[in-house]
Amino acid sequence: MISADRTALAQSIIDACLRMNRENLNQGTSGNISARFENGFLITPSGTPYDLLTPDGIVFMTLDGAVETGMKPSSEWRMHRDIYAEHRDAKAVVHAHPPYCTALSSLRVSIPAFHYMVAIAGGDDIRCADYATFGTADLSDEMSRALEGRKACLLANHGLICFDDTVASALALAVEVEALAHQYTVARRMGEPVLLNEIQMAEAITKFKDYRKQQS
Ligand SMILES: [Zn+2]
Repeated sequence: MISADRTALAQSIIDACLRMNRENLNQGTSGNISARFENGFLITPSGTPYDLLTPDGIVFMTLDGAVETGMKPSSEWRMHRDIYAEHRDAKAVVHAHPPYCTALSSLRVSIPAFHYMVAIAGGDDIRCADYATFGTADLSDEMSRALEGRKACLLANHGLICFDDTVASALALAVEVEALAHQYTVARRMGEPVLLNEIQMAEAITKFKDYRKQQS
């Protein structure tokens, strides 16, 4: 029997998956979403179309990678697990293949401080992790490096991953990073964007931190 808490959290994951595809942040079942739960996390299963997901089909895993019998988590579970293990403040993780983030990731460029909103990910850029095959521990290691001091990064020739306090806010962060990737792509087509300097970005980062404190 699945607890009411778990059912509600699993439903919030399903809702976010459906929204992610409605908002063109992802295609098909390539993305995956998870939320920290008890001594592990709940994560979307491997290969199930989002409109067929039910709360009891959302997989529970412990941080050491143990899975409930008969359940198959997303092939990208390692990245989710490593984020929960390495970032104590991570409560939800969104991984997707949004068009502009993915396009930029194939150029292997990080998103620099072309806009103060870049600070929403925690620093003065949003890094692009080096390439490794999907689903591997190597990919997760590259992601961990790119996420140092950050809540979002691009994954080379692959897509985006980010985390936040709730499933809804992690999805909102993914939407924001995709908007930044879009804006930066357009700006680069027009010329060489002027970047904000360290002091300007430090001010933006402080303001975001203050804003979050007020919210919590
Ligand atoms: Zn992926």
